[in-house]
Amino acid sequence: MSTHYKVVDNVAVITITNPPVNGLGHAVRLGIAEGIERAKSDPTVASIVLTGEGKAFSGGADMREFNSPKSGMEPGLNGVLSIIESSSKPVVAAVHSVAMGGGLELAMACHYRVAAPKARIALSEVTMGLLPGAGGTQRLPRLIGLESALNMIVHGTSISSEKLADSGLFDRMAEGDVVQEAIEFAKEMAKRSAPHPRARDKVVQHVNPEGLIAVARAAVDARYKNLPAPKRCLDALEASFKLPFDEALALERRSFLELMNGSVSKSLRHAFFSERAAAKLPDASGEIQERAIERVAVVGAGLMGSGIAMNFLSAGLPVVLVDVNDEAVNKGRRSIQANYEASVKKAKLAPEALEKRMQLLQTSSDLTSVSQCDLIIEAVYEDMPLKLSTFRALDEVAKPGAILASNTSTLDVNQIAASTKRPQDVIGLHFFSPANVMKLLEIVRGEKTSIEVLQTAFNIARRIGKVAVLSGVCDGFIGNRMIAKYSRRAQELVEQGALPEQVDRAAEEFGMAMGPFRMADLAGNDIGWAIRKRRYAEDPSQPRFEIADRLCESGNFGQKTGSGWYDYEPGQRKAKPSARTRALIEAYWKEKGISPRKFSNAEIVERLIFALVNEGAAILEEGIAARASDIDAVYLHGYGFPTWRGGPMFYADTVGIFNVNRAMRSLAQSDSSWTPSPLIERLAAKNSAFNA
Ligand code: NAD
Repeated sequence: MSTHYKVVDNVAVITITNPPVNGLGHAVRLGIAEGIERAKSDPTVASIVLTGEGKAFSGGADMREFNSPKSGMEPGLNGVLSIIESSSKPVVAAVHSVAMGGGLELAMACHYRVAAPKARIALSEVTMGLLPGAGGTQRLPRLIGLESALNMIVHGTSISSEKLADSGLFDRMAEGDVVQEAIEFAKEMAKRSAPHPRARDKVVQHVNPEGLIAVARAAVDARYKNLPAPKRCLDALEASFKLPFDEALALERRSFLELMNGSVSKSLRHAFFSERAAAKLPDASGEIQERAIERVAVVGAGLMGSGIAMNFLSAGLPVVLVDVNDEAVNKGRRSIQANYEASVKKAKLAPEALEKRMQLLQTSSDLTSVSQCDLIIEAVYEDMPLKLSTFRALDEVAKPGAILASNTSTLDVNQIAASTKRPQDVIGLHFFSPANVMKLLEIVRGEKTSIEVLQTAFNIARRIGKVAVLSGVCDGFIGNRMIAKYSRRAQELVEQGALPEQVDRAAEEFGMAMGPFRMADLAGNDIGWAIRKRRYAEDPSQPRFEIADRLCESGNFGQKTGSGWYDYEPGQRKAKPSARTRALIEAYWKEKGISPRKFSNAEIVERLIFALVNEGAAILEEGIAARASDIDAVYLHGYGFPTWRGGPMFYADTVGIFNVNRAMRSLAQSDSSWTPSPLIERLAAKNSAFNA
């Protein structure tokens, strides 16, 4: 049962009971419609209260139903709303907490609304690439005015109900039990003669509605360049004062359906669901005994170590930060303090919170100080002999059951685990830089890592607000293994005739937060160089990154040295095309007898993104990633891939695997390294998709 019906003192109370957030799936829509009809035909009932059980009044449409036959099954939400609106007995919404999307549209179709303070109120469809599809763009401006409605709808902002107390949205703010007060209110309203007020009959208020829309259009064009939904929201809002209600409603509905079937909304919804799916261990079954994590240690107080420590301090967990000497630990402490102080300055953190966090931090140059910690994260230099000796030492001092994690970016977690007598407790926790900011955390599963340790790692990730994705062991794990191929293709483009700034522009126009060369300059070209030198030594057949190597040989490490692929003014991050880099590239072309060719932006994007896709397919095939959507989550949260494209694997699905395969085959005719992975061949043959 998705709704519940009872009568209290001549008031019918319809309660939505569809956990977790009372989503408006088909059964709920039917339940509400039947409840209203039942109340209408019961002569003892004089008025109706509509409410939700549990955590929400209603969180809105049931997104799992989208693009399924159920979403089209009658009654649709608009149908339910018109049944409510046309009731001659007054219908009162009792909003005790969340009323979002369709949930708020439902409340707005009621004749009256009573709300508790602190209820979250929003029409946030735009965040999923949609617009409110059941009258939200028409009723909200009529109730709270055009400008306030526009701000809520176009940005999807959620507002606390008490801030809307005088907006016209609510007829009464409850002081106690909102359902009880709504029942009392409904009894009063029943005494009034019909018809009861309907939002649709109100007039949209604004002194200069056309002007407001024009200004908003300019702002939306600048801010949401690649997103169609905010523009459609404005069209619908414009219709709220230009067209009769029902015509405007039809326009809103058409826009909703078009957006829902478009690739941007599909991508945004995929991004939302991929983050949720990634949080579930693919082979977890039954009850898993999770380990309690109350004290954390971080070994290595450098760039990563101090950032990693901040995550736990911010979440209220005590941290011991260890390094080789007082100077190194104090440097770590100072960097943490400075970071928090910057947040205080920006008024993002209260000074008392800074104090509290710093009190949770203990620093030490003695490794035995980690002995009482439940989770120990190693972040020393990326050097295998050092990692092995560190883990051997940790094995000696850590208490039984402690989780021993490495933040290595490229080294073999199995080998690290084997240096201890407890490989089941060893795991990779690969944070991204800056570790206190970046949302992504790759949880690396060693051959022997226990399921309890994995589950605990996922729970810890949630506590510190990270998006965790499971990865198997391989060089670079999911994200960096793929980015290595992408960077290689970026280099190749330059070797063949493109300039770094053109490659970056093409990638950025596609939507990447930063092109590959700007990204390398930010991360430090020396980091990739060190990894390449190791790989050249391990496997001399590895492709050489000659231009990048030459750049590093002359000390151009990027932003930190003021020069890299680009030039930088002292203390500035703005990348300026570099005559020095250009000369280096041209010298390379000349030396190798290359006549530089021209690339279109589309060709550049195809090579860069398909490089990710082909390696992603190999990663899937090898079981390094459990799901294509996990790879997408890695790229969306760790590599600045545009959310509105859903991630590289979803993007490939959007292009069509058949087409991806064909394009790669054609590139492979002159360069066999483009041979599509067997998984791509199979999916193309079946006309299937990564995220099928
Ligand atoms: P870093 O050079 O900034 O810091 C390393 C710290 O380890 C130094 O403070 C050093 O004194 C300390 N150290 C060395 N030996 C030690 C020992 N025996 N005991 C205790 N401390 C010791 O390096 P980083 O950039 O923070 O990288 C640390 C790890 O994180 C590496 O494995 C690296 O691959 C990984 N990582 C780095 C990045 C990045 O972007 N920098 C991103 C993800 C992962």
